[in-house]
Amino acid sequence: MTFIDVLNEYHIPYITSGHHHARPGWVQLDCPWCGAGSQKYHLGYNIAHGYANCWRCGPHGVVDTIVAATGLTYGAARAALGPLTLDRDRRATRPPGRLTVPTGLGPLTRAHRDYLSGRGFDPAELERLWGLRGIGVAARLGWRVWVPVHYRGAIVSWTTRAIGSNPARYISAGPAEEALPHKDLLYGEDYARHAIIVCEGPADVWRIGPGAVATFGTGVSTAQMLKISRYPTRVLCFDMEREAQRQQWKLQQDLRVFPGRTAIVKLESADPGCATDEEVAELRRAWLGSEGVSSDAAMAAGRP
Ligand SMILES: [Zn+2]
Repeated sequence: MTFIDVLNEYHIPYITSGHHHARPGWVQLDCPWCGAGSQKYHLGYNIAHGYANCWRCGPHGVVDTIVAATGLTYGAARAALGPLTLDRDRRATRPPGRLTVPTGLGPLTRAHRDYLSGRGFDPAELERLWGLRGIGVAARLGWRVWVPVHYRGAIVSWTTRAIGSNPARYISAGPAEEALPHKDLLYGEDYARHAIIVCEGPADVWRIGPGAVATFGTGVSTAQMLKISRYPTRVLCFDMEREAQRQQWKLQQDLRVFPGRTAIVKLESADPGCATDEEVAELRRAWLGSEGVSSDAAMAAGRP
């Protein structure tokens, strides 16, 4: 079916003319993200080139737009749209780049291990489960922990964490250094099953263990929001600080149009990265169905 056929099939109101937001060659509908039911028709679908863009909140994937507008699952929306639209959809997205890792990368040194141990982590466990490495003496990114970002078993991007008092705590790969943009991904998603605990940073994920994912900061991209929306159970667990809580509330609102449930968990600790063992055990028992930070998820994902 064409995009318009799918809108007709699911009784989604749209316009092609007679409104100041209507332009030739475009189909306009209420944006499911920023204007559901508003009759303002902010979201446009370009018929010739097969992409979607909202006047207010920017570009959206075509399949994602159908998912958000109809409530279909991602698979059902893909099937409804058929291959022709999908090929156009794919062309509109950024082609994969080439991964470049920083110079000076090697095994974790004593300094890296001491830093991680000092934060209550087991460095050997982090190496095994999350593939952490260290950057020693280097012109750029010296004395940082290197954190690979995996997607479907392959390293596609990375971030780094300062081990000293550097005010730039996290520095991530630039667009030319990553195979896929990390802000389109969820850190730790390879280990996720039916439920996810959504946090801000990799250290939160290390603390909570497999089943937790991170968005690389409080600002959640549309691509990340849509990935989160595909899990039947999503538990939001951002830092307790004001801006993080505001972004968490916004994310919760964005997720309301999708099937499934979204819960918010408030910890006693300031952020999940420094949660106590009891908090982690409780969180895992309540939402992930296991207490331990076990390695079975790691094995399921095909990594040592
Ligand atoms: Zn919008």
